[in-house]
This record gives sequence, structure tokens and C-alpha cells, in this order.
Amino acid sequence: MDSHSSAEKHNFLNFLDEKILICDGAMGTMLQKVGYSACPDYLNIEKDGKKKVVNVHLGYIKAGSDIIQTNTFGSNPYKLKSCGLLPDMEKINKNAVSIANEAVKIYKEETGSSRHIFIAGDIGPTGKLLEPAGDAKYSEVVDLYSRQIDILVKNSVDLILIETIMDLNEAAAAVEAVKKVTSSMPVACTMTFGENGVSMMGNKAEDSLVILLNSGCDIVGANCGMGSDSMLGIVKKMRKAAPDAKLIFQPNAGLPVLKNGKTVYNETPESMASNTKEFLPYKPSILGACCGSTPAHISKIAQLVR
Ligand SMILES: [Zn+2]
Repeated sequence: MDSHSSAEKHNFLNFLDEKILICDGAMGTMLQKVGYSACPDYLNIEKDGKKKVVNVHLGYIKAGSDIIQTNTFGSNPYKLKSCGLLPDMEKINKNAVSIANEAVKIYKEETGSSRHIFIAGDIGPTGKLLEPAGDAKYSEVVDLYSRQIDILVKNSVDLILIETIMDLNEAAAAVEAVKKVTSSMPVACTMTFGENGVSMMGNKAEDSLVILLNSGCDIVGANCGMGSDSMLGIVKKMRKAAPDAKLIFQPNAGLPVLKNGKTVYNETPESMASNTKEFLPYKPSILGACCGSTPAHISKIAQLVR
């Protein structure tokens, strides 16, 4: 069942023609601060947990995010199985969408704002190595990803955002899974590259971009990685490879470092925003942030773009 018409798909993509949309920042590292690290997606089905996730969303919406990502980074069958949560897959993904909607509702009630907030169904890596590097079969990955995506689509997210993928084959499998479920849902995909613009599995940013666009991805880009400073090189390479493509960039707030036994990220909201400003001449469609970022980072980025 596909509840989204292609008119709706074009509607979201049309927004991108008008202005740069601001996505949100980190979810995982925000939830770690309130004490969850192993399986933060579990919060979606925990009584007190839901509120914690709502609060993270609300922080980003108030900071200026136009798009928020559901707390489903690890809600694919592979990751949930490793957490012993596979039987709860439907509920975890379904609740994630209603939690995101709840945050939007609270924001609108509190502020009276009519600002449009889009909800992206977040898809993270499987944690498995695909053939030939590992033993996960491409067709099986498509099949298992499509089960998660089907739940998100049925619960009416506005787009699917596949992120933090380090293997082009895995990214392609996730995109194919979206296409298997629906032909009308906008799909964005960001891979994670090193400073040299090459992913852990050896895929170049510019090559990955072209292949993902050809596979029907509407928006392609990069996330996480080595910080906002080093992402500029990737932004340039991608824009050069596809002059008209819709691009999305969500760098992390630098590499995590251990300080007094705590993981910290060095990029301040100011430094991240000033690095992100360097992306603007390359006409990105969506800007946000990844690990280590907070609503304060998104607020600075949003101010700079507006
Ligand atoms: Zn990240």
C-alpha cells in the first residue's frame, strides 16, 4: 500500500527549489547524554523514553530545523536482532513516527507557528558487511531494509533519509528497498567519507553520487565523517560531478575525543556554522549536522542560511 501520491513527492522536492531546508542534528549523541547508548531506538517503546525523544526533536524544531529525522537509525531488522528487539520492529518504527509528529504538534501548540516541519524516516547501516567483503547477500539486505521502510512509509513520513552508509552496495540496497516499497516517496541518501572523500569500503564521493542519482535517489550527499571543516572538499567534488543535483550535507561536530573519560566533540556551534557557510556557493538543498551536534549548532546554521 502506497499512501503517498507523486504530487506529494513533488511538493516536498519543490520546497527544495525555493530555499535551503535545515535538517536536524545528532539524535544518538543527544540520547547518550540522557543515559542511552546501546539501543537508543528502544526508547520509542519505553514509557519514559518517548518523552526523551520528543524533547530532542523539539529542541531541533525550536532551533530552526525544517526536517526532523525519526529515531530509527538502528531500527532495521539486523540491528534490532542484535539488540534482541526484532519482535518489536513494527512498534519501534511506528512509534518513532508518532513521536516525531507529537514533537511537531507540541511546537505548533506552544508557538502558534504554521511553519512546515517535514518528517524523514531515518535509515541507518545494517552493521553487516555485504558480499564480497562479508557474507550479507545484497538481495537479503534489500528485503530486510524494505520491511523497515514499509512501516515508515505506511505511517506517512515525508521522505526516507538513508544515512551514515560506508559501502555503496549497502546504500544501493537501501535505495532499492525504498523503490520496492513505493515509487512516490522522496528518497535521500548520504554516505560517510574520510577526509580524502573516499568511504571506508573504498567508494569515492563523486562516483557514489552519480550511481545513487542514477538509481533513482532524489537527494544525495554526505554525513558524519571528519567534521564540517573537512567536508568542504566533498561538497566541491559532488557539485562538480552533478551540477544540477539536489545535495544534502550533515557533517559531525568534528571527531570524538576522550576528555576526562568523557566523549566530547570539539566543533562549537560558531565554528560549525562558519564552516557550513563555505558550502553555500555550491548550492546545497539541505544542511544539517551529525554526531556531537546539538540544537545550539543547528540554531547557528539556521541563522546563517536564513
Ligand atoms: Zn554521525
